[in-house]
Amino acid sequence: MSEYQKSPLMGQMMSKPLLISSIIEHADRFFGQNEIVSRRVEGDIHRYNYSECHQRAKKLANAFQQLGIKIGDRIGTLAWNGYRHLEAYYAVSGSGAVLHTINPRLHPEQIAYIVNHGEDQYLLFDITFLPIIKAIAEHCPLIKGFVMMCDRDRLPTDGSIPNLLCYEDLINANSDEFEWPLFDENSASSLCYTSGTTGHPKGALYSHRSTILHSLASAMPDGLNVSARDSVMPVVPMFHVNAWGLPYSAPLTGAKLVFPGPHMDGKSLYELFEQEKVTFSAGVPTIWLGLLTYVVQNNLTFSTFKRTVIGGSACPPAMMKTLRHTYGIEVVHAWGMTEMSPLGTAGTLQAKHMSMSEAEQEAVLVKQGHAIYGVDMKIVDDSGKELPWNGITYGNLLVKGPWIISSYFKHEGGDVLEDGWFPTGDVATIDADGYMQITDRSKDVIKSGGEWIGTIDLENVAMSHPDVLQAACIGVFHPKWDERPLLLVVKKPGVNIDKQELIAFYEGKIAKWWTPDDVVFIDALPLGATGKILKNKLRDQFKDYHLPTA
Ligand code: AMP
Repeated sequence: MSEYQKSPLMGQMMSKPLLISSIIEHADRFFGQNEIVSRRVEGDIHRYNYSECHQRAKKLANAFQQLGIKIGDRIGTLAWNGYRHLEAYYAVSGSGAVLHTINPRLHPEQIAYIVNHGEDQYLLFDITFLPIIKAIAEHCPLIKGFVMMCDRDRLPTDGSIPNLLCYEDLINANSDEFEWPLFDENSASSLCYTSGTTGHPKGALYSHRSTILHSLASAMPDGLNVSARDSVMPVVPMFHVNAWGLPYSAPLTGAKLVFPGPHMDGKSLYELFEQEKVTFSAGVPTIWLGLLTYVVQNNLTFSTFKRTVIGGSACPPAMMKTLRHTYGIEVVHAWGMTEMSPLGTAGTLQAKHMSMSEAEQEAVLVKQGHAIYGVDMKIVDDSGKELPWNGITYGNLLVKGPWIISSYFKHEGGDVLEDGWFPTGDVATIDADGYMQITDRSKDVIKSGGEWIGTIDLENVAMSHPDVLQAACIGVFHPKWDERPLLLVVKKPGVNIDKQELIAFYEGKIAKWWTPDDVVFIDALPLGATGKILKNKLRDQFKDYHLPTA
């Protein structure tokens, strides 16, 4: 871009801009017959292919043009993973407008805030979210129309929603003759707000260039490893960081796409895995917990499922072990964030690891992994001094790269970079081979007597106990050490473990002074809109908790 030097001798290659429309064009031309299968909100299975998807995306693009949508305008979506949402991904961004994916699990007030802040002109929504639309419609004055993603016969006729349009009507009324426009590849393509546990959510505004580069890099063998031989099921939602880019990287490589819609319980997912011969999937640990519980209870196995990417929060080593050993599924532990499109690192082995023992390999794989090409990272102390890569020293994790934000939408929060690096808010180690391991979110670290205790390690130990379903560790006030770890545990149904046994379980597994001071058994852990444990809520709930004093 303009801030860089210009050589007197420029390369003589075509300067075709990197645009999202090129992905669906490619999928149509070279993988046109490859399938896209969706379990719809209605419960039935919808099946078509990339050519049909492209045709419908062009019809939708024509519809938006008729509605007066111009390059740079924002169109919101409140939708599950499904074929109509995919069409919107391409119709909106492909025609130069900006696809604003909104997390429906947020509070309606927050959704209205996000819609208004994004200045969305139209809002596409799945039937499920009709109550949200009813709640926010009058608070979103900039919206010119709400588009319900269904056939006309499902549209409410009570007039409760102003300017209600029918998605299938828009498709049916328009031609599939549409020339995708060419424009600067740095133009905005999509917008996603961070989950925002404190303050207002802030928007990450992706560009066509950043999205294409992220799709190319993340699809590589030591990233998500997606190919035309795969049947890919993104369980991670399309409303959260573009389902980790899979709606782009799957068509880019020609992989079959399988969408679970809103049906993400173990039984529904398992059925889709088997029926659609899914080979590769991606999701947060809580999703796999539900699936594994169902599979174990019903004594099932997977016939085609070979590989999964787990990220969003730390994948407990016990879960990785079960998937690998019991079900023969390779687990790629990945790390990233909304601000990073999202992929930053992936945990895969290199040639030199292949002769290692299973245990040694697992010690590598439980880390969040090496950076994928395009991303650079470093760890620094609180004064900004770079820390060594020895796998022990931990510090604040900073990243840079072409699909990492330079500032939030509308420059909210001002200049966020530190010397050109984006501070992730995560605390990590990096080993001599460049494998990064997250020890905590900086705000979740427990500060005990001036030293830091990483909560992920403590949670992983608890999760490796056969009677523990879920665990979270938080710091609570201690008169001598300021903070000490309190472990909150959800037991597996029907087991009878007590706190002394669990505390004794830590012996020899971590530094003695890291051992939680106390354990509280609870029925469920509070989860946020993206499936992460809400530690701030737990800290609030247990802020007056009195730890036993020795
Ligand atoms: P989000 O922007 O909602 O996707 O959240 C990003 C944050 O999730 C990161 O900054 C990390 O704190 C956390 N995260 C994502 N992936 C992992 C992982 N594999 N292990 C631990 N934390 C993770």
